Amino acid sequence: MFEIPKLDYGYDDLSPYMSAETVEIHYSKHHQTYVNNLNKLIEGTDYVGLDIEQVIKKSSSDKNVGIFNNAGQHYNHTMFFKQLKKSVDFQDGKLKSLIVKDFGSVDNFKEEFVKSSLGLFGSGWVWLVLNKENVLEIKNTLNGETPLLYGGVVLLVIDVWEHAYYLDYKNLRADFVRSTLDNLIDWNLIISRLDSTAEKDIF
Ligand code: MN
Repeated sequence: MFEIPKLDYGYDDLSPYMSAETVEIHYSKHHQTYVNNLNKLIEGTDYVGLDIEQVIKKSSSDKNVGIFNNAGQHYNHTMFFKQLKKSVDFQDGKLKSLIVKDFGSVDNFKEEFVKSSLGLFGSGWVWLVLNKENVLEIKNTLNGETPLLYGGVVLLVIDVWEHAYYLDYKNLRADFVRSTLDNLIDWNLIISRLDSTAEKDIF
């Protein structure tokens, strides 16, 4: 049985950038429902006993869309909630050097990330990934899809389904993404993902 991980913060700890109402509904309703659905779908199947990455990879190759979407949403939400923390910008170091090398500056990186989120039509996720050539890339995925399938190290993700921001930012997705990048990312955690196989460390 999969379970949603406990949050490292209270529902009200991310305001005013993300309201208590948004965190509570997003975590205890949306994320919980994906996990409940996933558990129901795998009950009595040969998916039982696999870890979340194995479930995602197997359901992708089996073309089992129901399991794939719910497993992906569990993985993606776990990663998203884990990295939120009221923050200041990160300091000089490996991550900043990579960002400056691949995007020119931290602000350009944020602009590119926001632009990418606006280019995503419908529901999905925006990611910062270190690819196999050691280059940072911003990627969009739709619905419950995850870059886990494509290799590379997943560093950062922002949920751009409307349920992630509508209560606080209404239709203004760009404002939500920019505010999250400026105020709510635990950059030390992102830096630690640089030195790990990120997927293994989030559960
Ligand atoms: Mn969500």
